[in-house]
Amino acid sequence: MTKADVLDRLKIGNKRFIDDKLDGKLQNSSRRATLTSGQEPYAIVLSCADSRVVPELAFDAGLGELFVIRVAGNIANNSSIASIEYAVAHLGTTIIVVLGHESCGAVTAAMSGGDNGHNLNHLLAHITPALNATADDAPVNEVVKKNAELTAGELKSRSAIIRDAVESGKVDILPAYYNLGSGAVEFL
Ligand SMILES: [Zn+2]
Repeated sequence: MTKADVLDRLKIGNKRFIDDKLDGKLQNSSRRATLTSGQEPYAIVLSCADSRVVPELAFDAGLGELFVIRVAGNIANNSSIASIEYAVAHLGTTIIVVLGHESCGAVTAAMSGGDNGHNLNHLLAHITPALNATADDAPVNEVVKKNAELTAGELKSRSAIIRDAVESGKVDILPAYYNLGSGAVEFL
């Protein structure tokens, strides 16, 4: 599939999800059997861990189709970047979606500030650039969108593997925003 084909497939799958018409394909024993020898996912999704945001459902995708990394705030840290590098370098995946979502709790916590303990402070520090790039009174969903955009840029700037793949035209990175109520994914 070309990058355009992948994007079409994601959009068509999302439309089925929005319309309550999931096709449920590629989730059965015969699909499992075809995948035991390897995987060739067509898209990587860096998503939040939020239980309301499930990439395989949002894009109506089955086994072996999406390489999904989930971490609160869909941030680019060493571990999420390394996971994406694996799919780019070894699985030939061509589209990376950075999927922020409406009313993200991690972004809300970053906006609230304060000391949240060692681990959460580390995570929220990755969202600080989006806070700095938006107005002080910006609504959370605007910061979410900025965070997805800046994270897309960070994947490129912090990884030679990802940067080379983007610059050679093999891979595109697409920031996106998931609407909780409608299920619609808006590519930013
Ligand atoms: Zn979230």
